Parts: sequence; structure tokens; C-alpha cells
Amino acid sequence: MLKGYKYRLHPTAAQAEFLVRTIGCARFIYNKLLEDRIAIHEEAKASGGPRQKPPTPASYKPLFPFLAEADSLALANAKLHLDAAFARFFAGTAAFPVFKSRRKSRASYTTNNQHGTIRIEAGKVRLPKVGFVRFTQHRIFDGEIRSATVSMTKTGTFFVSLLVEQGDEPWVPAEHKVGIDLGLEHFAVMTNDALVTEKIANPRHLRQGEARLKRAQRALSRKKPGSRNREKARLLLAKKHEKVRNRRHDFLHKLSRRIVDENQVVVVETLKPREMMQDRRLAKSIGDVGWGEFVRQLEYKARLYGRTLIKADPWFASTQVCSACGENGGRKELDVREWTCGACGAYHDRDVNASLNLLRLADRNIPGQGLPDELGP
Ligand SMILES: [Zn+2]
Repeated sequence: MLKGYKYRLHPTAAQAEFLVRTIGCARFIYNKLLEDRIAIHEEAKASGGPRQKPPTPASYKPLFPFLAEADSLALANAKLHLDAAFARFFAGTAAFPVFKSRRKSRASYTTNNQHGTIRIEAGKVRLPKVGFVRFTQHRIFDGEIRSATVSMTKTGTFFVSLLVEQGDEPWVPAEHKVGIDLGLEHFAVMTNDALVTEKIANPRHLRQGEARLKRAQRALSRKKPGSRNREKARLLLAKKHEKVRNRRHDFLHKLSRRIVDENQVVVVETLKPREMMQDRRLAKSIGDVGWGEFVRQLEYKARLYGRTLIKADPWFASTQVCSACGENGGRKELDVREWTCGACGAYHDRDVNASLNLLRLADRNIPGQGLPDELGP
């Protein structure tokens, strides 16, 4: 099982310069290869002849001597990344690969471990061609390091992400099943099979930071292009963006990990975000809360820890159906927070009712495991 561990790097000034140069070389090779592939493609189309073989990163070295200084595995990985981008394009799951830009693209390079060229020693991580770099190892791991990806944020902070091969952890089944309704009133309302409901408040990180972001954005646009003040303002804005993103990810990671720790079966709704995105007034708050990222995290953590994640069918009417009698009471507008079932008279909190309905799906999908009596038909 491969697992990633990400750490903050503290390179010396010289090391930082080398890392930036290597990131630049990897981007350069990526763009060069892409350019040549496009040219080869057009040439073959024009001449009707067979396609030329695309060049390798090494073949550029005589032409561009600065490439020889860089970690050659970083260049090889740039080619692999491009190959993967083309594979996704041909599989129809992604658009045609685009050129990487210094400003807009993720600044990173990946390199591989060859017999200890990447290793941790005395509180430092060794990277090929760089040597030992100070880093904050906030958590330790067992296993063999396969590769390292060095990345730099827009504010010039470096991170290293180590991909580690690990033995499978002993599988520990979790005690509960849970239905999770994602909402706007709360981030999530969860009801488990012990009928314990928990409402997770919405993290308003972005909203709170929004005014500050807006101010920083405005300050930036007022500065003269190319001036030092503009650069300072740009850095400030990037810092605020990073902070908001980090806090959101922190929130989502902690919550998804806890859910996976506590529950063997997790049912979550999937379509609603897109539906609601069509409503412009709501779009902003949905963008804030990061449901897509949350479901992605639940998905891979469920896989990692041997849990079952059930994504409810898009047409599953979790908010319409009465969880007490099963009667479909029809569409409920978003501002209807509570309602009484016309058939059985049960009084419902909209989100709790939805989470209960989602919880029922846990048993429909896992044969041989019944619901507790209170929930039975
Ligand atoms: Zn009812």
C-alpha cells in the first residue's frame, strides 16, 4: 500500500535556489515535450506519413546545457506526467494537455529513490542532487520511500511529499454505520445506527477571510505593474489564500478521518452540490464548504481503512421521504427546515430526516445486516 506523507521543508538559501531551478527545468522539459508532440502530430497529419518518435528528456541536454545540472529523474518524471496527461486525454477523462506556466501552474517536481538517494537521517531529508535538507517531521512512518515530490507555494514555502510503500495495516472493523446529509445550515448532519445525531457546524473560513481577501485583491490591483509594492501585495494576497485553504483542508481531513474511524459503513449524498450550484445565491457558500473535496477524502480513506462508502443515487429523495413511514411527501423548498409528514404525522427536522434516510441505504447495500428495530419498516 502506498501512502503519502507531506512535510514542510526548510532549505538553505542555496538549496532553495536549486529547488526553484529544478522546478523550472521540469516545467521547461514538460513544455518542450508537449510542443514537440504537437509538432509531430501536425506533421504526420500534413504529410500523411508515419509519426516520428517523440524525443526523450535526455535528447534536449546538448541543446540546453542548464538541464544537465538538474536532477535527471525530475526530468524523466516530467515526461511521465505528460504521458499520463495524454493518456487521460485519449481516455476521454481530461482535456488536451496544456502548457505549464510559471505563475499559474503548480510549482513542483518529482524524483525517485534509488538505493537510498532519498532518505531521512538525523532530522533531515536527503534529496538527490540537493543533499540533506532541514524539515519538520511532524509524524513518522515505517516503510520504504519510493519517490519525493518537492513543491513550492506562491509565497515561496517549500514542502516535500514522500510516497512510502507500507505493509497493510491490520484491519480493524468499526462499530457503526452512518448516514451523512451535507447541507448549508450545517456542514453535515450525521445519524448513526445507534440513532445518535450529530450536527457539524459549517466552517465559515472562506466567508470570514473573504473580506480580507477582497481588501488584499483591491490593494494589489491599485499597485503599479512591475513595482516592488505590487510584488509585496501579490505575496500578501497569496498568503491569505493559502491560510484559508489550509484551514479548510485541516477541517475536512479531521472530520473525514473521524467518520472513517468510527463507522464501518458510510452513506453520503452526492448530487446536491451541483443542483444547488445552479442557484447563484447558494453557489458561494457551497464553494466555501468544499463538499467535493470532503467526499473525495471519505472515498480514499474508506479504501485505505477497509470501510464501505456508499454514495447515494442522485435520484434518491433523501429530503422528501418520511423516515418514519416511508411516504414521499414531495419536494421541499430549501427554506423548509422542519415539516410534518402528511401520512403518519411524524415531525421532522429536514436534515436529520435526510440523514436517517441515507442511513437506511447502508443496510440495503450490505446484505444480511438488519436495521435496529426502531428503524425497521
Ligand atoms: Zn410519515
